[in-house]
This record gives sequence, structure tokens and C-alpha cells, in this order.
Amino acid sequence: MYIGRFAPSPSGPLHFGSLVAALGSYFQAKAQSGRWLVRIEDIDPPREIAGASSLILKTLEAYQLVWDGDVLYQSSRLTAYQQQVDQWLSSDDAYLCECTRRQIKETHGFYQGTCRHKGLMASGNQAVRLKVTHPISAFDDQRYGSLTIPAGLVHEDFIIKRRDGLFAYNLAVVLDDIYQGVTEVVRGADLIEPTGRQISLYKTLGATPVSYLHLPLAIDDSGNKLSKQNHAAGIDLTNPVPTLMNAMRFLGFSLDDHMAGSTPEELLKWGVENWHLQQLSDALKIKPPFSNDAL
Ligand code: GLU
Repeated sequence: MYIGRFAPSPSGPLHFGSLVAALGSYFQAKAQSGRWLVRIEDIDPPREIAGASSLILKTLEAYQLVWDGDVLYQSSRLTAYQQQVDQWLSSDDAYLCECTRRQIKETHGFYQGTCRHKGLMASGNQAVRLKVTHPISAFDDQRYGSLTIPAGLVHEDFIIKRRDGLFAYNLAVVLDDIYQGVTEVVRGADLIEPTGRQISLYKTLGATPVSYLHLPLAIDDSGNKLSKQNHAAGIDLTNPVPTLMNAMRFLGFSLDDHMAGSTPEELLKWGVENWHLQQLSDALKIKPPFSNDAL
């Protein structure tokens, strides 16, 4: 059974770029009669905007993107993350690290395993790093084909718990995708970079990695990614059809203008029936319908 998911972080409203990720993962799941889950990745309170989680879910509802089962909140999974971190610390597969970002920058920008053999005792303000036992140097993506991981990243013991005590995105995302039985991850191309680490985590856990499909990234006129960090505008909740059609065109669908008279439900149904991966190869050539003024 195919299980896909959309996993937004509540750091702002749902913007055009995240709608593209929601739709791509939805079509890919539903075209295979699969389940489509929604997970709110609320493990970074300092970056969270009050009310964003419920606004994101309301927006999905307005676009008739109906998820299967209950929404999983990562904030409800902290015990599971901590248990895994503790297990790796006690089996000596992970270690405490006191290096600052600045120190690492000074040593070629990649972490050189400085604290690996220091045997530091917990004293606060330390990160937890996983010893990389399964280095991943390349992986296959359904759209981009074989992707090579930059050499310095391949062997880097990466952070699973941050110095500020928050769990690392890579750890939470992999533990939850396993927990929820996800079979394929469909998301924006900005997340290609951490994928090698995530596959490495699956292997360390003895789990079968998911397959990956990275979608073209929506960028604005100056070439910047549309993201909450760049304060991309939230999408319209009251009149979803025009934005939905734009996002579907961005994903490579050819839509007739007369389809503007459809309901979101009808558009999604049509999308599920007509979705095919080849349409994505042309998608990058389509400019997202944004100008800087709209952002
Ligand atoms: N929560 C991440 C984000 O909003 C996405 C995680 C993922 O799809 O793996 O960028």
C-alpha cells in the first residue's frame, strides 16, 4: 500500500510553494490509490508562528485536500525521539559535541568528528551527533535521477539533537515516516540536500528507506525560493480555484481555461486521473505566477 504525506512546519501560513508540495504528494498518493497523511512538524517552537498549524489545516480544507487518518503533531512524539537518542548514546553510536557553528566553519565548513573520541559528559549546551556508520554518497530520485551528495557531507557525523535541546529535523522526519509507514516522500527540491542523511538514518535503524520524489521549487522573480522564511504570502482561502489551477500548472498539468468553473474537488479529481511523473520534467520551465510585488 502506498503511503505518502505532506509535512509542513507551522512557521507561517501555507504559501504557493507549500501548496505545490501538498498537491504533488497528494496526486502521487491518490493516483496510486494510496493514503495521504498530514503531519505538522512543530518541533521548533522559536520558529513557530502562533495559529499557523490551524491556518495550514484550514487552508488544506478550503482546497479540498482531504487527508487520511488523524494529523500527527511532532510535538507529541518527543519521548520517542529522546528514547532513540538515549539508545544511541548508551550504545556509543552517538556522542555529545560542544563545537560551535563558528568552530566548524573554520575547519573547512564540515564537521571533522572533533568530539567523537572526547567522551564528553552531559553538561548542557551540547549537541548530540550520530556516528555515521552508513555513509550515503548518492541516491535515486524519481524526477532528478541519480543525485550525488557533496563529498564533505557524506561522512559527517550529523546532529540528531541540537545544542538548544531541540530535536533535529532529520531525526524527527525519519522516525515519523517509519512510525507512520510512509513508503514515499514527495517534497520540494530544497530538501534534496538532507536526503542522504535521512537515508543513512534508515540504514542505521535497520529500516528500508522510502523512495523519493523531489518537486520543482517555486521561485520568485529574483530567483529566491518561496518560503516562510522569505515571508512568502499566504494563499487565498476564500477563492481557491485560481491558485489551485496555478499550482497545478506549475506541476506540469495543461489545464483549459474553462476549468476555472470547476470546484476544487473536481479539479483534484481530474488531477488524480491525469497525473503522470513525466509532466514534471517540463515543470521547471513554467514560471510561478508571482512577481516580487505579490510577496
Ligand atoms: N517540515 C519540512 C518543511 O516544511 C518538510 C519536511 C519533509 O517533507 O521532509 O520544510
